Amino acid sequence: MYQDRRKVIVIGGGLVGSLCACFMGQKGYHVVLYEKRSDLRKDTYMRGRSINLAISHRGRVALRSVGLEETVLGSAIPMQGRLLHGKTGALQSMPYDPVFNNCIYSIGRNSLNEVLLNAAENYDNVKVKFDHKLVNADIRRGVIRVQNKTTTEVFEETADLIIGADGAYSVLRSAMLMTPMFQFNQTHIEHGYLELYIPASLGDKMTPNHLHIWPRGQFMMIALPNKDTSWTVTLFMPLDNFTSLRDEDSIMYFFENIFPDAVPLIGKNSLVHTFLSTKPSQLISIKCSPHHFGSKFLIIGDAAHAMVPFYGQGMNSGFEDVSVLSELLDKNHLEVKEIIKLYSEMRVQNVQAVCDLAMYNYVEMRDLVMRKSFRARKAVDEV
Ligand code: FAD
Repeated sequence: MYQDRRKVIVIGGGLVGSLCACFMGQKGYHVVLYEKRSDLRKDTYMRGRSINLAISHRGRVALRSVGLEETVLGSAIPMQGRLLHGKTGALQSMPYDPVFNNCIYSIGRNSLNEVLLNAAENYDNVKVKFDHKLVNADIRRGVIRVQNKTTTEVFEETADLIIGADGAYSVLRSAMLMTPMFQFNQTHIEHGYLELYIPASLGDKMTPNHLHIWPRGQFMMIALPNKDTSWTVTLFMPLDNFTSLRDEDSIMYFFENIFPDAVPLIGKNSLVHTFLSTKPSQLISIKCSPHHFGSKFLIIGDAAHAMVPFYGQGMNSGFEDVSVLSELLDKNHLEVKEIIKLYSEMRVQNVQAVCDLAMYNYVEMRDLVMRKSFRARKAVDEV
């Protein structure tokens, strides 16, 4: 970017937005990050979905560029393979990479977000403004309207580059929807998810350093390890099935028949309480094109390509978006409008392919995993 055009606005201080602020800060731009929520580092309660995530190569490369890979992996747990749970409790390990031992890592969402926000704020030229919400964008005039949620004041803002990292329900993307030739497709899948928990006191009953999977055709459960030896368990199943499990008897009957070995680990009380007190979350896949508008607007991360979580690449692809953008920004002879156009041309097809792979893995993980390997290797269980 030309030296006289140095202001960048990032909307959304989630994983992708806060990493993006680090990259922009490292380049010396004057960066303002607007996040609608309060500062998660000051919250005492855990919030948000999927409290841990799998980080893999794409994500690590991006973290390395801003010197954060070691810090992040230092508090992550390596997962060397899948550990399949059959119905009768038979286990089968499927290493990801038996030859070179490459693995993925489980990392807490909030602790990762904290590392990224701290790193962003370490740059003098980056200002993070919490409780500031993008209300709408007048993209033809090149301005956004932001509300300070504390004072309720709404003000207009502009910059040389405005990046929407405001998640799957992006306000910036909504403004782009009205523009000519903008393609948009969203799919809510039949399955939703609910998070359960294996406490640290029972965590050692789980085989360590694996991503645990209970594949059961229409239902699937996974568990990822946490640093304190607890495990976060995610149950995926059709939303209609969640609706039919309305009382203790039906919940316990379901679990004791479908996931019997998980019952003593999660614990009956916790299982029933979570089911009766928590609404399952929906899963959405979003594709759109292009990812830029005009001379300054760009969307990245879930705002541009939310995907179902079965490939573990949503955040990783969002991190890769930032790496790709960063490389293009380093081409000093290009103007911002050329860079973002080039970014769309390079990126749209690639991330849509990852969205497709994620949808394919939706079937693979809950179903094919069992058919292809578990049964073929004559493991004892019936699915
Ligand atoms: P978000 O995390 O949604 O962050 C958006 C931010 O923008 C939020 O902080 C929000 O408050 C803020 N915001 C929203 N609207 C506004 C506004 N109007 N003004 C200002 N701020 C705003 N990915 C992986 O790579 N590996 C995994 O293992 C994995 N597991 C997953 C498991 C589940 C169950 C789910 C649902 C997803 C999983 N993902 C995984 C995907 C991953 O969570 C997302 O891809 C990632 O969070 C996207 O980051 P983001 O910053 O683009 O969006």
